[in-house]
Amino acid sequence: MPHSPMVFQVNWNACIQCGACVAVCPKEAGFTTPFDTIATDTPCDIACMACEKVCPVTAIDSRRATAQERADLPAVRAIPLR
Ligand code: SF4
Ligand code: SF4
Repeated sequence: MPHSPMVFQVNWNACIQCGACVAVCPKEAGFTTPFDTIATDTPCDIACMACEKVCPVTAIDSRRATAQERADLPAVRAIPLR
């Protein structure tokens, strides 16, 4: 089932840089921040939500990508909203 692209936010005060979110993520290499978490500035078109679930300190939050953010991602243009 297609998912809506999601944008993730990390509570940097809570993140302990354990790397679990990156380890569980099926995205291509490089979908990360300089702090070794999953990317927070790029919508994720897979949106499996495993990163958010695995975080031991619930530092990850998410929101649906905006229409503009989706339009800026050619790979996700064809993905309908849930
Ligand atoms: S939702 Fe899934 S694919 Fe997207 S960043 Fe999180 S773990 Fe990776
Ligand atoms: S799983 Fe949570 S605590 Fe660990 S690096 Fe990712 S955001 Fe930080």
